[in-house]
Amino acid sequence: MSAAEETPLPPPHLLSHDPEIALRYRLARGAQVQWAELSVRARARRLGKAADVLLERMEDLADLIVEENGKPRVEAYGHEIGPSAAHVRYMCAQAPRLLVPRRFSPAVLPIREVTVTPVPLGVVLIISPWNVPLAIPFGQAMAALLAGNAVVLKPSEVTPRIGDAIGEVFDACGLPPNLFSVVQGDGRVGADLIAARPDKVLFTGSLATGRKVMAAAAAHPIPVSLELGGVDALVVCEDADIEFASSAIAFGGAFNHGQICASVERVLVHETVREELVSRVVDKLAQVPARDLGRVTFGMQRRVYDRHLQDARERGLHIRCGGAWRDRDQLEATVIEGEGIEDAPVWREETFGPVVAVATFRHDDEAIRKHDDCAFGLTASVFTTSPERAEHYARRLRVGAVSINELGASLHACGEVPWGGVEGSGFGRSHGQEGLLECTRPLVVDRPRWGLPSFKRPWWFPYDPHQRALMADLARSVAHRSLRVRFGARLRMGRALFRQLVEHPRL
Ligand code: NAD
Repeated sequence: MSAAEETPLPPPHLLSHDPEIALRYRLARGAQVQWAELSVRARARRLGKAADVLLERMEDLADLIVEENGKPRVEAYGHEIGPSAAHVRYMCAQAPRLLVPRRFSPAVLPIREVTVTPVPLGVVLIISPWNVPLAIPFGQAMAALLAGNAVVLKPSEVTPRIGDAIGEVFDACGLPPNLFSVVQGDGRVGADLIAARPDKVLFTGSLATGRKVMAAAAAHPIPVSLELGGVDALVVCEDADIEFASSAIAFGGAFNHGQICASVERVLVHETVREELVSRVVDKLAQVPARDLGRVTFGMQRRVYDRHLQDARERGLHIRCGGAWRDRDQLEATVIEGEGIEDAPVWREETFGPVVAVATFRHDDEAIRKHDDCAFGLTASVFTTSPERAEHYARRLRVGAVSINELGASLHACGEVPWGGVEGSGFGRSHGQEGLLECTRPLVVDRPRWGLPSFKRPWWFPYDPHQRALMADLARSVAHRSLRVRFGARLRMGRALFRQLVEHPRL
């Protein structure tokens, strides 16, 4: 028995037995077939209405986001609803241009014409987190639907009503029934949805869950895109505008209570400007009103904060500000520094709270080494007044995106810019052209060119010494650096082909 015959199906315990989920997928598959028949332009016309709906319902959606997630209202507009609406406009305008077939003739088969068309995958399962509960799943769903897929969304169990609200926005666009649906539940439901075999999983969440998602998908196998955690760093060079950099750190480390995958968790500052920078950050954080910081959305986070702070104290690190709970739902914005911080969990692990750890460097190579000594690699921010130095960092830092004199997190609001990480921050991209193509597969169709009559290919049976020469000439004709040799090989091939057509038209 061959290896393939031994494992024809995923192990039974990986198959979902939930009839509700099976039905949801069946209905989604039915709706998808008709949806995929529409042109991209027609799909974009329908989906474009989502921007109007988001803007019309802005106040209600903001109420819901503030209530369920806890972020300040200004962030509900600026980080969730506004970017989602802008994403719709960008995607709907660009998709008809981006989802087009490529046509070409391969060099070794010039008698053929190949088209590569980005076609839909089928049913895309989106599993999303609670920290950016609207913009993350909405943007992914938009791309998947535009590309011709059906979508099943499992929002975080911490923010289920925002998941339902996304369903209402798509309903208001008049999409075919069952094309987009929301399935509520916790991780067990997420696991069941993967077991029921969607055609792709777009997962956003922690590294620990991402590993489970990938293992479950591997059993089928089905493709996954993983947008995972980050311990993102902001590098401040000695030539940077320190006032500007300190404002960026105060905001980038603490907005949404630090519950942002790309928040500033680490600061690498040149040792000569450390005190100036840190004291400005501390001053600025002291002036941020409690209402602007947001609150703990998911209670389990409290334990992570307490563990990281306790460890920092035990190591004798210097807590420059914060470090205490203002009330049960809000940790004071915290800045920590000191000898040995680079070994501490607050530096190496995702705190996902308003906590910034600071370390120093003496030269750029040291900063890059310290930056890359990290399990994650989502975004990095570099503050310097030297464009050359900034480009040097941008080329060397191991991350998905580098922002120069700006916060990497801001890029998530830009629908045009591919978003995603490397290493422990995952792989695959949402947003931009890459995010759209992530929801497609390249379908190859190969057809005759020039209306040529069919003839036996010179590399088919029976093999004879002429064919050996012909194949050697084929290699020379496409790959030799000399034009003269390529031309000579083509001439000989032409003659050999002609002879073969005459002598052995068919085998
Ligand atoms: P999480 O991993 O706990 O949960 C994410 C989602 O996965 C939830 O919907 C959850 O129900 C589901 N889930 C849990 N177990 C599952 C399983 N076994 N199979 C399938 N689904 C399962 O993450 P979270 O606490 O909701 O979100 C915070 C994390 O997300 C942080 O690590 C943060 O950095 C990361 N994040 C990353 C990005 C990014 O763009 N890279 C964006 C936002 C958040």
